[in-house]
Amino acid sequence: MAALYRIFSVRVAAVTSLTPHFVRVTLTGDALAEFSAVGLDQRIKVMLPIEGHGFTELPEDGDWYAAWRDLPDAVRNPLRTYTVRSFRPDAHELDIDFVAHGDAGPASRWVSGCRVGDELRIIGPRVPESPDELATGAAEFAPGTATRILLAGDETAAPAICAILEALDVATVGHVFIEVPTDADRLPVSAPSGVEVRWIARNGASHGVRMTDQVHAWASTVTATSGGGPSAVCADVTDFTEVDVDEQVLWEVPSPVDERPVYAWIAGEAGCVKELRRHLVRGVGLDRKQVAFMGYWRNGKAEH
Ligand SMILES: Cc1cc2nc3c(=O)[nH]c(=O)nc-3n(C[C@H](O)[C@H](O)[C@H](O)COP(=O)(O)OP(=O)(O)OC[C@H]3O[C@@H](n4cnc5c(N)ncnc54)[C@H](O)[C@@H]3O)c2cc1C
Repeated sequence: MAALYRIFSVRVAAVTSLTPHFVRVTLTGDALAEFSAVGLDQRIKVMLPIEGHGFTELPEDGDWYAAWRDLPDAVRNPLRTYTVRSFRPDAHELDIDFVAHGDAGPASRWVSGCRVGDELRIIGPRVPESPDELATGAAEFAPGTATRILLAGDETAAPAICAILEALDVATVGHVFIEVPTDADRLPVSAPSGVEVRWIARNGASHGVRMTDQVHAWASTVTATSGGGPSAVCADVTDFTEVDVDEQVLWEVPSPVDERPVYAWIAGEAGCVKELRRHLVRGVGLDRKQVAFMGYWRNGKAEH
């Protein structure tokens, strides 16, 4: 059986500047007929061209990863993680919303100069060959039967949060906090009427501070209202250990369980997610079975 995760050769069909810091790149290619959408916050790898080399030819199927790893540094195309903002299988089109954060990284650099027709590679799951062949490990949002949700993140999490919001059941209630660089970076998104969506503009403040304040306020309402009903808090935090976000990836996601009254999904800069994890789990005592904590990037460190 062919490997589930493969390389898809695609090209840029459209580049849309959404706001000062968000660029939507629409990718197309016949290969996308084989791409499999597996979840609302689905992550894929983007393989970027190397100046003067473009793409080294790698096998699309089979052990492309080993072949990629064995390439000399000078021709090993950088890989970065992005979210499938939307996928239109019939049109063979896939959108990625890139944060343009300057020239510091190959992905951000590429998006500032990309043009219609440019080639790109993405890595994701192909259509399963049999029903029991599941594409696991590519999406995390799993609220189960939770009736109250929290989604919180910075601009890198905005594409996932928007994709989740647009697909929520109309009866869902909850809060959403999305921190973006400026007022002009708020994106239009539809949400159920019981879900309050707050775009928080940083406008020069330190990364994550404003979103953190909002999540802390949300946490106090959860603890204040959990008495009597199904418990949202759990005082047992004896197994809590800090994560060194400069050495490890902060990725703590609960295994899918059906019965939880509250479900929280938090993603963004790893230092900020770490602080939120400490506050919510050790400070407030929120049950970790109810929260997904995901460090999407680390300030000062390139993704490897
Ligand atoms: C599951 C998942 C989904 C993601 N989805 C998206 C998405 O849909 N859209 C998106 O834009 N990003 C997304 N990200 C984040 C993205 O992978 C990182 O921002 C990545 O580091 C960008 O690569 P780069 O080549 O531009 O920078 P890198 O080479 O990785 O880093 C170079 C420098 O830039 C800094 N840096 C990286 N990202 C940012 C940023 N956003 N703002 C300021 N400085 C930064 C780094 O700290 C480093 O100092 C996602 C990450 C994960 C794990």
